[in-house]
Amino acid sequence: MTDPKWWGWGGAERRGAVAAEALEMLTELLGPPRRSPPVALDQVRVADPAPLPDSIRDVIGSDHVLTGREDRIRHATGKSYPDLVRLRSGEIEDAPDAVVEPGCHDEVAAVLDACTRENVAVVPFGGGTSVVGGVDPARGSFERVIALDLGRMRSAGVDRRSLTARLGPGLRGPDAERALGAAGVTLGHFPQSFEHATIGGFAATRSAGQASSGYGRFDRMVTAVRLAAPAGELRTIDTPHSAAGPALRELIVGSEGVLGVITEVTACVRPRPEERRYEAWIAPEFASGVEIVRELAQQRVLPDVVRLSDRNETRVSLALSGMGGAVRRLLDGYLRLRRQARGCILITGWEGTSEAVGLRRALATRALRSGGAVALGARPGRSWYRGRFEGPYLRDELLDLSYMVETLETAHTWTRLGELYHAVSGAIRDALQAQGTPGLVFAHVSHAYPDGASLYFTVLAAQRVGHELEQWRAVKRAASEAIVRTGGTITHHHAIGRDHRPYIRDEIGELGVEAIAAVKARLDPAGIMNPGKLLA
Ligand SMILES: Cc1cc2nc3c(=O)[nH]c(=O)nc-3n(C[C@H](O)[C@H](O)[C@H](O)COP(=O)(O)OP(=O)(O)OC[C@H]3O[C@@H](n4cnc5c(N)ncnc54)[C@H](O)[C@@H]3O)c2cc1C
Repeated sequence: MTDPKWWGWGGAERRGAVAAEALEMLTELLGPPRRSPPVALDQVRVADPAPLPDSIRDVIGSDHVLTGREDRIRHATGKSYPDLVRLRSGEIEDAPDAVVEPGCHDEVAAVLDACTRENVAVVPFGGGTSVVGGVDPARGSFERVIALDLGRMRSAGVDRRSLTARLGPGLRGPDAERALGAAGVTLGHFPQSFEHATIGGFAATRSAGQASSGYGRFDRMVTAVRLAAPAGELRTIDTPHSAAGPALRELIVGSEGVLGVITEVTACVRPRPEERRYEAWIAPEFASGVEIVRELAQQRVLPDVVRLSDRNETRVSLALSGMGGAVRRLLDGYLRLRRQARGCILITGWEGTSEAVGLRRALATRALRSGGAVALGARPGRSWYRGRFEGPYLRDELLDLSYMVETLETAHTWTRLGELYHAVSGAIRDALQAQGTPGLVFAHVSHAYPDGASLYFTVLAAQRVGHELEQWRAVKRAASEAIVRTGGTITHHHAIGRDHRPYIRDEIGELGVEAIAAVKARLDPAGIMNPGKLLA
């Protein structure tokens, strides 16, 4: 792979293709495309770095302190829509003064020590795929800020008997799976950002992968963690469970770099699946599809992957798949015949031994059929599986055509999921309408539990040229306020970062915020760790 695009997703050779049918649909619904390529790297405006104290170079060696323009720009943002807008226009707000690359726990500890003494803010940086401003080089009250890139910390060791693996924080998804694959095991954690996000990032944000219904979210996989905090080391022991007071592990997982740096993660693994079976179904409509997923979850027969698209997402994904001509007419005809013309796509996936896949699939199939779902077979399921990491490549193409592509997520109980769905999609639509850029809002359910599920929204609209960030802010505010009003969580798996910070009090209350702040004050007395994130 060539170097990842500094302004987008993945290597420059990987281009997503916008199918002709999709472009026609976007033109009709949102207005015609307008080409707007990213600026050249040398046009990005970035201030000269503030000089770093020698003590940081002394503890880690000059080779691992990068102050080049490109390195700083590559560590200046995450990969959210507003981040890409800023990068593509060359108007990033700030960049770290240096990128520091420790190679082990002790080097991390030594860097944190030097930064505490010298008053330098530290932003832990994994894959830099945050979509909530989590790696923003915010300075807070500090004059200097470094990005602490953990990419050199890529150790991996498997305890085959206990089915656990001890993993370095800098391992990216594919590296981790390669190392685990050599021992015949897998984490089963496949978020859409899998290709670039890291183990440390997964733990620090409580990430949820596409197969979370079967394998569990990442925070559920973690059995032990090691944290280098400015005040010292915090380590939990590797046992299946402990009743030794409140779980420190839980405090570290999801701490988003504000308490310290996660330098090692021990996680549960599973034998690599002998069989993977992916299928597609059509539910009569979104509400009845939601009922099917609820039944699957409450009867404890959830497939490992379950993903129900609403009507708009079903239409858009069919258009984007480029499935045209005779095949499309056949599918449409078949669905009309089965009275499913308003149907919603439901992807199911099972992984494991052939016998377990067969048994679990049989149980789930009964619930799917009794809820009125119609089987479309394995071909569209396999096609979803093949394309499951393609979304962000396509986002780059749509940005090139001046379309806004924003995604956000939340979760609620089954009782209030429908209310949340309508409140958030309505609020986003109104916010776009008010700006003269009516948009397309769609959603899917993809992480299901016996008591509720997540909702993942995608927003497409023509960009307000010259006012892209203002347009995004209005949408984000409207969606977040609707989530808070409806009592949903401000984030099911993207974390708080910078963008959700105004809403954390609504979720955990003043005392909750103060309790986390008190822990931070003990672990990071100088407040150098990731200023401006998670806590106000
Ligand atoms: C296209 C796209 C698709 C995505 N899909 C998903 C998805 O399906 N599921 C999902 O859960 N998320 C998804 N995300 C969000 C993002 O990928 C996750 O939050 C991921 O866990 C971040 O990992 P990272 O290594 O890139 O972390 P970074 O972006 O580098 O960091 C994220 C936060 O964690 C902190 N951090 C990173 N490493 C450490 C460490 N070792 N110690 C302490 N703090 C640390 C950072 O300071 C920051 O606050 C997606 C993002 C994009 C751009």
